[in-house]
Amino acid sequence: MTKKNLGTLCVQAGYEPKNGEPRVLPIIQSTTFKYDSSEQMGNLFDLKEAGYFYTRLSNPTNDAVANKIVALEGGVAGILTSSGQAANFYALLNILKAGDHVISSSAIYGGTYNLIAHTMKDLGIESTFVDPAISLEDLNKEFKENTKAVFGETLSNPSLKVLDIETFAKAAHDHGVPLIVDNTFPTPIFLRPIEWGADIVTHSTTKYMNGFANSVGGAVIDSGNFDWSKHKDKFPGLTEPDETYHGVVYTESFGKGAYITKMTTTLMRDLGSIPSPQNSFYLGLGLETLHLRMPRHYENALAVAKFLENNDKISWVSFSALEKDSQHKLAQKYLPDGSCGVISFGVNGGRDAATKFMDSLKLAAVVTHVADSRTCVLHPASTTHRQMNEEELRQAGISSDLIRMSVGIEDAEDIIEDIKGALEAI
Ligand SMILES: *Cc1c(COP(=O)(O)O)cnc(C)c1O
Repeated sequence: MTKKNLGTLCVQAGYEPKNGEPRVLPIIQSTTFKYDSSEQMGNLFDLKEAGYFYTRLSNPTNDAVANKIVALEGGVAGILTSSGQAANFYALLNILKAGDHVISSSAIYGGTYNLIAHTMKDLGIESTFVDPAISLEDLNKEFKENTKAVFGETLSNPSLKVLDIETFAKAAHDHGVPLIVDNTFPTPIFLRPIEWGADIVTHSTTKYMNGFANSVGGAVIDSGNFDWSKHKDKFPGLTEPDETYHGVVYTESFGKGAYITKMTTTLMRDLGSIPSPQNSFYLGLGLETLHLRMPRHYENALAVAKFLENNDKISWVSFSALEKDSQHKLAQKYLPDGSCGVISFGVNGGRDAATKFMDSLKLAAVVTHVADSRTCVLHPASTTHRQMNEEELRQAGISSDLIRMSVGIEDAEDIIEDIKGALEAI
């Protein structure tokens, strides 16, 4: 797919107004939908007819935006969630239950690590964390009888490790389970994981997809490529009758839509993490410029990374586009056109110098966020990842002097000028 195609999808996919309908996707801020007969309403409940009846299960604004992301990722079906956390939880819980096991890359977002290592453990789901650079041979050894999924981040937040998607997909598929990847950082503009063998793609749309830091959200996209029926015994929730829906067998009734339909009819029905249509509207607007913003984030970040690399107050810089970077080779394969606007680096003098540097920035704000239009910085070890002990931090690739900078879409020279000033203050 060329960049031009992606740009057209960003602007137009997901919503096709009919004659006389609004050109811009309307915000259908209604919890409910009217029908003339109770029989038709009954058919909707029984999944015999498709249609809207209650926004927790589906809403036209939410669906249109979900479909735009489905188009961008090259999937067959998708759903929006109220947050990225909900998206990853749903993606896993849709196929895992108590007694099951998941293998995850250790280089993942702190919230997702807590979800898998602690909250899901309390629900009876075991996990094994592996180095994202693990060999296929070693990865194969981590599978158990009860392993039901493999999880990773395509470009990890905040450690910026590139997942070797082909290796993870091969191991997963050889063991009859899907690969689920969180593609929040590169976005489909720079990486389309389905093309490399991932089966399910998740997003925290809070970040680049929304782009302007005005609403929290998430998405789960199904490639439709994983054959659940072929591994029937592993995924009874999809391949055996669901008694809570009159014995429907999702794989038989919905084919490639089975995974997302089940997520809607069971997880959304029972847990209800839906976005408001208003927030989905903001997400849809953000997506219309994703193809313009991502290259700008990347170019600015590269300029900042090159500046930092040559500064003697900086101990190290991590950005996969730098030739010396440990991730450069993998990035050339998976992220040939760019990666994201997030870089991480260490300041000489450790934690204290890092704090002094951050507090001296003027244009860049210290905020718990990444990946929006405004440049910002964060110290993960004392904020997003503060629940982790030293060993867990090391495994996640986060040192105590690591500063994460999310380079925005302002003018690069102003961002660099700001950094120069703050470095002088140390
Ligand atoms: C932020 C983030 C999440 C969590 O998303 P929320 O929208 O904050 O719930 C998950 N994965 C990655 C890679 C993230 O950056």
